[in-house]
Amino acid sequence: MKSNCPRGVYVHVPFCLSKCAYCDFYSCPGSETDKERYIVALVKEIALRGELHAGHAETLFFGGGTPSCLSTEQIATVLSECGRYFPLSPNAEVSMEVNPGTLSGLDLSGLHALGVNRLSIGLQASQDRLLTLLGRSHNLAMFNETFREARQAGFDNISADVIYGLPGQSLTDYAESLHHLIDSAVDHVSCYSLQVEPETPLWHPVMAGEIELPDDDEVVAMYELGRDTLRAAGYEQYELSNFARPGKECRHNLKYWRNEQYLGLGPAAAGFVSGRRYVNVADTEEYIRLLDQSSLPVGSCEMLSGKAHRAETAMLALRLLREGIDRDAYRRRYGHDPLVEYADPIKEWTEAGMIESDGTRVVLTDLGALWANRVQASFLVSP
Ligand code: SF4
Repeated sequence: MKSNCPRGVYVHVPFCLSKCAYCDFYSCPGSETDKERYIVALVKEIALRGELHAGHAETLFFGGGTPSCLSTEQIATVLSECGRYFPLSPNAEVSMEVNPGTLSGLDLSGLHALGVNRLSIGLQASQDRLLTLLGRSHNLAMFNETFREARQAGFDNISADVIYGLPGQSLTDYAESLHHLIDSAVDHVSCYSLQVEPETPLWHPVMAGEIELPDDDEVVAMYELGRDTLRAAGYEQYELSNFARPGKECRHNLKYWRNEQYLGLGPAAAGFVSGRRYVNVADTEEYIRLLDQSSLPVGSCEMLSGKAHRAETAMLALRLLREGIDRDAYRRRYGHDPLVEYADPIKEWTEAGMIESDGTRVVLTDLGALWANRVQASFLVSP
């Protein structure tokens, strides 16, 4: 295996049935022809990047967009082409994001037989009125049906997403969404706080005061409700926004938080390999045009090295609430002691009760998790 081979592969599928009101990911509606042209270009990118960075992959993640709007045959093509350059390790995790109501071309049993072994299903909320407000193209019944079909097809590792801090969402609503997932025995839950990003459909009515968001105290109460409810049900909060039953952590996303190498493929996909972070062009036509010329479809690229890279690693590691900054791993990787390098912020936040260290690792406390952005930022600027 080449030393610069990434052991995680991310594939961005840039198509969605329609645009959700809060979404600022790159995605657009796609015809069957658009999807075919995208797959042809993606195969070319796999080959180009494969020539540079071939090696075994431990994780492969289809994200989007809506990967489940592709057909089983198209997924099979991508898996087979990836396998030529990035053969999957025997116990590899192969994940796919799935939106309820988008599985018309996809056969879940066929997908499982291809080696996809983890699904991430977007629920967001269990109240149909909130799903409508978010512009989701499904209701609760469709989520339930997709979940049932996935279990029947043999998926024993299923994650679901929920969002809190929604307009008109009460604590009771949020508790109901969480309990719906717990009662469904989902294996992993991602809980995100609503971020209203500029130029998304939700942005203008919120800015104009036509839609009111919960205040900060309510959002914190929802975060704490999610944390306490899921913990009590046996899910560990292994990352700020992610909860898993034992052994069901998302191994692909762990690579991001550990600042490890991964390859990004597809329009708008980001990758980090050989010390370089790149982002592909967020334009499917341009992506196809560049690959037609046998050019890598890169939109931007930056070299990460030295202290800046180490600080980023420390900052990301704080998201991992059990693992935190692992002193020995950091020393082996960089030849520096994080307890020395970040002595000032560690002292400041320990005194404030936001982080704790037993000498082997530095982790956020429950209080620190509420202020994670501030704590993390201080590691980035630490001299
Ligand atoms: S399904 Fe996901 S990627 Fe597509 S518009 Fe909705 S939030 Fe965005």
